Amino acid sequence: MPANILDGVKTAAAIRAEVAAEIKKMTAAGIHPGLAVVLVGHNPASEIYVRGKVKSCEEVGIYSEKHTPSGSVTTEDLLALVHDLNRREEIDGILVQLPLPPQVDSKKILLAVDPAKDVDGFHPMNVGLLSTQREGLVPCTPAGVMEILKRSGIPIAGQNAVVVGRSDIVGKPMAMLLINANATVTVCHSKTRDLAALCRQADILVAAIGRAGMITREFVRPGATVIDVGMNTVTDAAEFERFFAGNARREETFRTKGSTLVGDVHPEVAQIAGAITPVPGGVGPLTIAMLMSNTLRAAKLRRGTKAA
Ligand code: NDP
Repeated sequence: MPANILDGVKTAAAIRAEVAAEIKKMTAAGIHPGLAVVLVGHNPASEIYVRGKVKSCEEVGIYSEKHTPSGSVTTEDLLALVHDLNRREEIDGILVQLPLPPQVDSKKILLAVDPAKDVDGFHPMNVGLLSTQREGLVPCTPAGVMEILKRSGIPIAGQNAVVVGRSDIVGKPMAMLLINANATVTVCHSKTRDLAALCRQADILVAAIGRAGMITREFVRPGATVIDVGMNTVTDAAEFERFFAGNARREETFRTKGSTLVGDVHPEVAQIAGAITPVPGGVGPLTIAMLMSNTLRAAKLRRGTKAA
């Protein structure tokens, strides 16, 4: 039986509507949450992400401003910008879009962001708060995954969860959130032996790898919930055929755009999974919705209003 499709677009819209309603109340009370986005240089993918984030701010009523230092910016100049944003009372959230150019010390920049304004949840302080189950700011993508699991009524406590990927941005915080929600968690990576067998143990399988369609049928227990975090652009016709042969809608996109987006999970998995997030339209929209939610949360925490 085909999987239940977990609709990220719909869930993200519900989250944004909730955030917008709260922002409206805060604004009426004289508090106007603000987000500063720092976009260094001209990375086309980053520019698209930032555009989406700024647009989403407009939709929910968050004040936003974009800072665009040149691609040759120094670590010192970027630090000065971050310090300035840290000091400004009307800025509740600071987001430094990654990746930064090679001459910039990314770790130093992320460490300089005030943890109370760290809406990406990447500061070691927030990492520590998450791992000790204290209130803090949680990275948007894994937070979005938890939201769609909960809102779709998928049980987590006591379930076997397998996370493929151990990045600081997705894999590790994902594993931590699932542990905190009482799942039994296995984290896999490029050195894991017999990955498919481990994945088949999963009631909840999260793929955050960055390899198009790597998770095929043999990695998935029939009926499992599969969360596909991957976003990979396919431009090669043979690769396209491997994933989407016979899919008229995809063929049309591929013909007109010359590319299509595929997750880390092979589309064939939708035939055996119990529930699955699509790509596009799954985890991606949730990430931006959680950024809005985090900015609201940061505003509440910083300005002394009770957190949601
Ligand atoms: P990273 O490249 O930082 O991490 C990838 C992880 O996958 C690493 O831990 C790596 O292992 C592991 N890995 C790579 N190859 C294999 C393999 N063959 N077998 C098992 N594990 C493997 O990526 P991110 O975590 O930043 O992102 C992962 C994916 O999610 C990407 O496609 C990215 O585009 C997407 N993404 C999507 C977002 C969204 O909003 N939907 C947001 C953020 C990311 P090792 O540590 O050993 O190298």
